Amino acid sequence: MDISDSSVKYSRVLLTEDEIAAKVKELAAAVDADYEGEDLLLVGVLKGAMMIMADLSRELKTPVEIDWMAVSSYGSGVTSSGVVRILKDLDISIEGRNVLIVEDVLDSGLTLRWLVRSLQARQPKSLKLLTLLRKPEAVRNEVDVAYVGFDIPNDFVVGYGMDQGEKLRNLRSIAVLDV
Ligand code: IMP
Ligand code: MG
Repeated sequence: MDISDSSVKYSRVLLTEDEIAAKVKELAAAVDADYEGEDLLLVGVLKGAMMIMADLSRELKTPVEIDWMAVSSYGSGVTSSGVVRILKDLDISIEGRNVLIVEDVLDSGLTLRWLVRSLQARQPKSLKLLTLLRKPEAVRNEVDVAYVGFDIPNDFVVGYGMDQGEKLRNLRSIAVLDV
């Protein structure tokens, strides 16, 4: 749906469907160039990465396998220690594989930092990160991301997989909610 179909009154579109699609094509081309002739396993972080995973994987020319993890931070938010709980682990072993983690948005980057440590311990051949959106705090925390779609301001965004209380994931665009 579009933001006009929702009951949201105050919002602005940050990235249109076309802008997202063009960027996903660019990201896919960069991934294809780096992994040409290589084995590749895409690991998506549920649920936010659903759209970027679906679109990115279809833009790729590289054959891939796809697996998912679901994680949640302890307590009300991600603590400064970045301790995360695995709600759903991978089905596929990553030992000796090229792994690319696919994320919707990096805010503090702590979830991803924890995930990288946790997956690195399983001895993949390589482990890189791709995120569609990155906020300023992740830049400050120097989270090492191989592929970034858009650097965005420190606003709360919804749509294209990202939610507010589980709603608005099915927006075609990415919107900022004004509160
Ligand atoms: P981080 O650990 O602070 O980088 O937060 C990562 C997770 O928080 C993301 O994967 C999202 O699921 C969620 N998140 C962060 N910012 C937003 C936002 O603006 N809208 C929706 N979800 C967000
Ligand atoms: Mg996410």
